[in-house]
Amino acid sequence: MNIILAQTAGFCMGVDMALRKLDSLLHGPDQKSEVCTLGPIIHNPQVLQEYAARGVAQINDPQALNTGQTVVVRAHGIPRNIEAALQARGVRLIDATCPKVKKAQVLIAKQAAQGRLLILLGEADHPEVRGLLSYAASGACVVDSEEGLEELLQDRLGPCFLAAQTTQDQELYVRMADLLRRRLDPDIPVLDTICAATMNRQEEARVIAEQVQAMVVVGGRESGNTRRLVQVVEQAGIPCHHVEIADELPLDQLRGLNSIGITAGASTPKNVIQAVVQRVETM
Ligand code: SF4
Repeated sequence: MNIILAQTAGFCMGVDMALRKLDSLLHGPDQKSEVCTLGPIIHNPQVLQEYAARGVAQINDPQALNTGQTVVVRAHGIPRNIEAALQARGVRLIDATCPKVKKAQVLIAKQAAQGRLLILLGEADHPEVRGLLSYAASGACVVDSEEGLEELLQDRLGPCFLAAQTTQDQELYVRMADLLRRRLDPDIPVLDTICAATMNRQEEARVIAEQVQAMVVVGGRESGNTRRLVQVVEQAGIPCHHVEIADELPLDQLRGLNSIGITAGASTPKNVIQAVVQRVETM
């Protein structure tokens, strides 16, 4: 059987940096004090279990944090008002927000300062999106499809700008920008907020999907960029199996195929990917 493993599979720069920050805290002078994260530091349950076993508590409610407590801000960032409230309460924040997410926050704040409404391509419930929206001081709407955008365009909109959650599909974003230029404003500002790590993973998944009979995407079910990889492969028209770990592989459906592609989200650790590859090789 021919197995093609994506070169881009696994940790991106932002995830790697966030985990290094957490590791350095655990190995540094803080190791005896309690270190916690506000929400999951990244969206991968296996990684979170490992840190939980090392004593890193995940606190989901900012109100539960106490003065002097050390809190690592996750790679996806947190809303502006929560950050300010925690700082005011004397919580020690270690910012592990990915630089690409930070860049998106800054760009959005600049456009919003000109009184423009943000149209954001993203998942409304995603923590990164909640963070980005907090920088849109002149209002915001979240859409996740061209249909959603069409619906929004039924309303009378003032000056707007377009941005995307960092992990969104670049092709969809380009189509939405074109639609807005045609229907709303030929000069609408379109921010460059989709992360290259995401685009490269999606592009490679498309290329591999053309060469294989089925694909396996490895990564957390809560991971936005992993879910997007699944969509990209499904759009290519071949069967796609999303698994978090090797034990979830649908071996009955994979056995007998001549070619299988494997890729993984930006928050999937190497050992989990290797275990999947090994299981497919030996099934
Ligand atoms: Fe940062 Fe991109 Fe990784 Fe998200 S996918 S954490 S934006 S580098």
